[in-house]
Amino acid sequence: MLVRLIIGLVATVIAFAIAGRRVLFLYRLTRSGQPAPERIAAAKNDVGGDVKGQVVEVLGQRRLLKWTGPGLAHFFVMWAFFVLLTVYIEAYGALLFGLDFHIPLIGRWAVLGFLQDFIAVAALLGLIAFAIIRIKDSPKRLDRASRFKGSHLGGAWLILFMIFNVIWTMFLFRGAGVATGNFPYGNAAFASHGAGNLLDGLGRHTNEWIESVGLLLHIGVMLAFLVIVLNSKHLHIFLAPVNVIFKRRPDGLGPAQPMMSNGQVLDFEEADPDEDVFGRGKVEDFTWKGFLDFATCTECGRCQSQCPAWNTGKPLSPKMVITDLRDHALAKAPYILAGSDAEREKLPADVLKEAERPLVGGADVGGVIEPDVLWACTNCGACVEQCPVDIEHIDHILDMRRYQVMIESSFPSEAGVMLKNLENKGNPWGMSEMKRADWIGELDFEVPVVEDKMPEDVEYLFWVGCAGALEDRAKRTTKAVAELLHIAGVSFAVLGPMEACTGDPARRLGMEFVYQMLAQQNVETLNDAGVQKIVASCPHCFNTLSREYPQIGGNYEVVHHTQLLARLVDEGRLTPVTPIEENITYHDPCFLGRHNKVYRQPREIMDKVPGVSTREMHRCKDRGFCCGAGGARMWMEERIGKRINTERVDEALETDPDTVSTACPFCLVMLGDAINEKKNSGAAKESLEVVDVAQLLIKSVKERAE
Ligand code: SF4
Ligand code: SF4
Repeated sequence: MLVRLIIGLVATVIAFAIAGRRVLFLYRLTRSGQPAPERIAAAKNDVGGDVKGQVVEVLGQRRLLKWTGPGLAHFFVMWAFFVLLTVYIEAYGALLFGLDFHIPLIGRWAVLGFLQDFIAVAALLGLIAFAIIRIKDSPKRLDRASRFKGSHLGGAWLILFMIFNVIWTMFLFRGAGVATGNFPYGNAAFASHGAGNLLDGLGRHTNEWIESVGLLLHIGVMLAFLVIVLNSKHLHIFLAPVNVIFKRRPDGLGPAQPMMSNGQVLDFEEADPDEDVFGRGKVEDFTWKGFLDFATCTECGRCQSQCPAWNTGKPLSPKMVITDLRDHALAKAPYILAGSDAEREKLPADVLKEAERPLVGGADVGGVIEPDVLWACTNCGACVEQCPVDIEHIDHILDMRRYQVMIESSFPSEAGVMLKNLENKGNPWGMSEMKRADWIGELDFEVPVVEDKMPEDVEYLFWVGCAGALEDRAKRTTKAVAELLHIAGVSFAVLGPMEACTGDPARRLGMEFVYQMLAQQNVETLNDAGVQKIVASCPHCFNTLSREYPQIGGNYEVVHHTQLLARLVDEGRLTPVTPIEENITYHDPCFLGRHNKVYRQPREIMDKVPGVSTREMHRCKDRGFCCGAGGARMWMEERIGKRINTERVDEALETDPDTVSTACPFCLVMLGDAINEKKNSGAAKESLEVVDVAQLLIKSVKERAE
C-alpha cells in the first residue's frame, strides 16, 4: 500500500508541476495580447448568454452535432471527460484511503456505476468512429477535399491512443476490484462486472496485484494525458468553454468590429502612430482573445471544408490562418515574454529569426500569412458559422487587412480604384451622385426624394444602395421593390443624390478611414432627416445600416426587402396570382443568410408564387456557398483557382433550374456573369437567368394589380 501511495503521489506531483509550468506560460502569453475590456464586460453583462453558451455549445455540442456521425462520437467522448472525473475521484480515494474506498453518499449508487461504464463504452465506440474517419481520410491527406489537410494528424492519433488507455486501464482497475470484492457498484456497472468475470479465474491474490497496478496505470495515463494535452492542439478541452464565454455576442458574424487600440475604439483624429495599434501588424498586436482563439483551435477543419476560397483552389484555409498564427505566437513567445532588450539579445537564433518574420508577406520574406491568403477571403462567414469553438476568423483577417491597407498601403491594386471612387464620388464605380435617382424616371409613379427631412406621412426610407441605383441588372430589383411597395400601399421615400455608399466595401477591404468618412456622412444625413425605419435591398447595406451604424450613433429599424415583402404577402397586401411554372433554386446571400439569419422570408415569398417549384442546392442556408463578391472581393481580380461564382453556378445547375433566384445585387451580378459564361460554352440553357425574388414576386403580382 505504501509503495503504491508513494508512486502515485510522486507521479502526481511531478506531472502537476510540469502541467502548472505550461499553464503559467500559456497564461502569460495570452495576457501579453492587447486588452479587450469589451469582451469581459459582455461576459459580465450577459450571464444568461454565458450559461446558454455553456449548455448549448459546450455541453450540448450544438455545432458538432450538425455533423451527425463525427458530432455524436465527439459528444460521447466529451461527456466521458466529465463523467469519468468521478472515476478519478474514486481512483485517488483508493490511492489515499485504500482499495475499498467509495465516494461518500453517491459512491454505491447504481445509477452512477452504470453511467460511468456506459459513457466509457460509448467513448470507446466514439474512438473507433474517429479512427475510421481518420483512416478513411488518410489517403486523401494531401487532397484539398479532406478537412484534415494541414492538420497535425500524428498528435490526433496520440490523443485517441491516450483516451483508449484511460478506458482500458479503468476497466482493468475496476474489473480486478470486482474480483477482489472492493468494487462499490452492483451489476449496473455492467462493463466493469464483465471485466471482473474475465479476471475472476486468476484468483484473489493475483487480482489484488492487478487492482494496484491497474490503479497506478489509470492514474499515470491521466497524468501523462494532462501534460500531452497542455502541449497540443487538444488544449481545446480546457479552453473551449473559456473561448465560448468571451465570444462576440451573439456570434462572430454580422457587423465588422471597430478598430481597437489598447482596449479602446481608435479615434483617427487623436491617434498617435507611436502609441496606437492600427490593425494587426505583428502577432503581439492581437488581443488576448485573439491568442485564446489561436490556442483553442482543434484543427477539426470544419471551417476549411466550407470555405469558398479553399474549395476553389485558393491558398486560404481559415484553419491554417489560425494554426499558422498560433504556431508563430508559440515560436515567438520567448521574445514576446522577455522582460528587456538585453534578455532578448540572449535568445537562441531560431527565436530571433521567428521574431523577425513579417506577419503578412510572401515566401521570399518568410511571412506568417501569405498575401494571397489574406486577400482571398470573401468574409462569407462559413468558417465562423461552422467553428465548434467559436473562433472569429473574419475579425482576425480584417484586422490584418487593416494594417496592410492603412500602414503598409499594400493591397491588390485593382481595389485602389474602388477606394478612390468611394472617396471622390461616394460610390465604387465613380459615377455622378446625380445618377442615383435615374431609375425613378423609369417608373410610372412618383417616388419622393428626401431633400431635407423625411416627409411626415412617409413610413420607410428605401435605401437603394450603389448597385441598386447605378448597376443596370440591380436596378431591375430596385424598380421591382419600389413597385411592390407602391402596390401594397407602403409609403416610402429615397435619399437620391444624398445617399452615399454605406462604406462596406472599404471597411471589408481594411480601409477603415474611408468607411468612417462615408458612415459618418450617412448617419448625419439620416439623423438630420429624422429617419426611423429603413428598407434596404442590398444585404451588405442592410448589415451595415442595422448592425454597424449603431457603433457610431446611427440607430434605425432596418429590414431587408425580402423581410418586408414576405410580411406584405402574409398580410394579403400583395397577392401573387400569375403562375410562374418554373424550377427555381435560391442562392442565399451570405450577408443576408449567415450574417443576419434571414433564410425563411425569401423562400416564403417563392412558395407563395403559384407554379413555382423550388429546389435547394446541396449547399444552402447556413451552409450556403458564397458568390465570391463579399469582403470587397467584388473589386479584386480572381487569379487563382476556379472562380467562386462559376463553382456556385455549377452547383445551381445540378438542380436543373429554369431560374436562379437570390436577394442581393452583388450575387445577382456575380451569378449572372457565371451563367453567361456557361451559356457561351453551351453548359447552360439560353433561357436560364438569375433574378431577385422581388422580380419574381412582381411578375406574379403585377398582372392582378393591372
Ligand atoms: S469568411 Fe469565408 S472566405 Fe473567408 S476564410 Fe471564412 S469561409 Fe473562407
Ligand atoms: S478554426 Fe474552428 S472549425 Fe476551423 S479547424 Fe479550428 S476549431 Fe475547427
